[in-house]
Amino acid sequence: MATPLVIHDRNVMRELILSSRTIGRRVGFVPTMGSLHAGHTSLVDQAVAECDDVVTSIFVNPSQFGPQEDFEKYPRDFDADFNLLARHNVCWIFAPDVHEMYPPGDSTRIEIGGPADPYEGTLRPGHFSGVATIVFRLLQAVPSHAVYFGAKDWQQVLVVRQMVHDLQLDVQVMTCPTVRDTDGLALSSRNTYLNESERNRAQTIYAALQQAEQNWCRGLAIDTIEQKLRDMLTAKEIQIDYADIVHAESLKKISEVSQNTPAIFLIACRLGSTRLIDNILLPSRAFSSC
Ligand code: AMP
Repeated sequence: MATPLVIHDRNVMRELILSSRTIGRRVGFVPTMGSLHAGHTSLVDQAVAECDDVVTSIFVNPSQFGPQEDFEKYPRDFDADFNLLARHNVCWIFAPDVHEMYPPGDSTRIEIGGPADPYEGTLRPGHFSGVATIVFRLLQAVPSHAVYFGAKDWQQVLVVRQMVHDLQLDVQVMTCPTVRDTDGLALSSRNTYLNESERNRAQTIYAALQQAEQNWCRGLAIDTIEQKLRDMLTAKEIQIDYADIVHAESLKKISEVSQNTPAIFLIACRLGSTRLIDNILLPSRAFSSC
């Protein structure tokens, strides 16, 4: 266990990374909003396995929250995060304050099209602009070789990849699998908002996704698979924002399935006032896994 160095200043952070790169070390970066759990540390572990030095940022990014969203109440516990990251061999923790990332007078935002438009982009206007803007600024402060994101936030990964492609950023975007609780619920900092009944019902989300995967493999029609999932969730009084099988790269609805279409089932739903997202990648019907 190494004690991570906590850096608040982006110029200091950048100098440290550049010095590390100069001596030939590979730097990995895991951006987070803190309130860390095993999903976050799985990203850190992959970065540590693939890189010489790993930076984790902890920054609750105001520009990706809508006015009615949970920016104020978002869980924050720096000491717990620090101790967890120390156990996972992070070298530096970048923990800027809001003015460090959004200097007074700031009025610049990055707008992404394509994968940022549907689903979360429609339901949370400005969300992906906030995500892209902070990821870009964090990458300026942390000029790493590779940046790690979780597949749980699938659309976010596509948006970051689009930005990296379009702005020709010199960083590799890595995607890590979703880490789940023992009952299948995807780990999320927002799970702490769920009361006991909501938490129990929330396990249906992954159960329904698994059932959808089986139905996909059995060759059921897409509409039928989607409807069965919706029925399972509504039976547990889970409100559905969207539940669609889409092309995993373009996020366009799939009507017919050819054997090699990369497909994903995307869900956003609400239990009480808590909004959760999840997904399952659907195997190619050409593979024996189906
Ligand atoms: P957040 O702190 O929620 O912004 O998440 C920071 C990073 O951790 C993002 O790339 C997320 O996709 C990733 N992440 C969050 N939850 C999980 C999970 N259960 N499994 C894998 N990655 C996750």
